[in-house]
Amino acid sequence: MAIIREITTVASVAMPVAEAWRVKRCRYASEGTSAGRLCIATGIHGDEMMGQLVVFGVARRIMAQPEHLHGIVDIYPMLNPLGLDCGSRMVPSTAQLDMNRAFPGRPDGTALESVCWRVLEDMRGADLVLDIHASTQNKSELYEVRMNTPHAEELIRQARALCPELIWVYPDNNLYSGSLTGTLVELGTSALILEADERHRRPHEIAERVVEGIMCKMKDMGLWTGDCALTVPRDEDIPCIRTEEEICVITCEAPGVYVPLDHIGKRVEEGELLGMVIDALEGSVREEVHAPASGLVFSQRSYSAVYPGTLIARVKKEVQA
Ligand SMILES: [Zn+2]
Repeated sequence: MAIIREITTVASVAMPVAEAWRVKRCRYASEGTSAGRLCIATGIHGDEMMGQLVVFGVARRIMAQPEHLHGIVDIYPMLNPLGLDCGSRMVPSTAQLDMNRAFPGRPDGTALESVCWRVLEDMRGADLVLDIHASTQNKSELYEVRMNTPHAEELIRQARALCPELIWVYPDNNLYSGSLTGTLVELGTSALILEADERHRRPHEIAERVVEGIMCKMKDMGLWTGDCALTVPRDEDIPCIRTEEEICVITCEAPGVYVPLDHIGKRVEEGELLGMVIDALEGSVREEVHAPASGLVFSQRSYSAVYPGTLIARVKKEVQA
């Protein structure tokens, strides 16, 4: 059975200096009955490259076994192409604007508002929208699914089939209002953030893990009957952060160069050494950073310069049942 592959421009807004901000979508659609529609977006932050390799991987998997697609998969690889071109998180302009704080936008607003509006209108009504991000520079992160508090229990249920290493429910403090996924959920469309780490020049490995998770989710949705190495994990097999109280944020006090021990994805004991801040000039250790609580290390500072208050690690604390 053939599939339809179609590239469409979802939004196009003229910019100064003969540039245009174009958001493109590649649709993979099976012929005949459809089990639903999945949207996969990335590149909203132009400095996060991980999503490019992930959507490339999903597209390759679909094209390798097109007869096993049973619905629509819409891929939006570059929501912020101007930022991606110059490796900038923000939308390049005189004021630095975060596209992921500009939703829902307006049809007749500024270039940014207008693009956001059109993207949102195009995705609305899908069965699920995935927005892929990457951890910021100098920080390692697990493969995580993140969501806002409202409707969290329903979204957690949906997130499981993506086989993440961690599910993280953000507190409802308006910090994420204006985001693509937050706005979609408010409008009644299920949407989740995927956080995938480039982990120091090993992007293939991490991307493959995320692609497998997405294929597993597609299988779970009835969209895919092709190859899939993973099966939906049980609830208890995925660590889940539901409240802020479960998170222990560790920062350093001394400035210098941080040298981490590799704990990401592993359990540490209370008091265990996480890493140290060194002074290369003096040849001294300025600070040893220890875990204040036992639990899973899910964020970790890389080998880099640090200042007082720099985030060193986040630990998911073990709560007594
Ligand atoms: Zn991001």
